[in-house]
Amino acid sequence: MPGRAATGRAVAAFVIYGVLVWWLAFAWRGSWRAWAAPIAGLLGIVLVAWLHVKLSEWTNGRIYLRALQVLLYPYGVLVTAVGLFIAAIPATPVGRRDGLCHACRYDLRGRTERDAVCPECGARVLEPGERGTRRREADRSA
Ligand SMILES: [Zn+2]
Repeated sequence: MPGRAATGRAVAAFVIYGVLVWWLAFAWRGSWRAWAAPIAGLLGIVLVAWLHVKLSEWTNGRIYLRALQVLLYPYGVLVTAVGLFIAAIPATPVGRRDGLCHACRYDLRGRTERDAVCPECGARVLEPGERGTRRREADRSA
């Protein structure tokens, strides 16, 4: 029968796993990947739960952490629910964070969200989660 150390390691691994899922959902928010992170996280937990049950079957119950199996279900719900909540946080559009065009730094403040291009240089106004290509360094050396 596995001792408390094994259970402690499993709990530590799950804490790291959950934080990783939430961090990915946060880093990718504004993109479809932010929703994929908690869903993939849930699938991973379901896989672990399934493997754990199979492992106890293959070893005739010698390998079975009851605490693990009991914790997996609320843990899976927690990781997925918080992950989806984080994914729903709107990302600050990179190109409009400071109200300036990402290409020419033209002041876009006061324009509506529907405006698709910069009136000064014609660059496409970035969607939330998109990264602007900073051209100023390249232009200066050219
Ligand atoms: Zn511009």
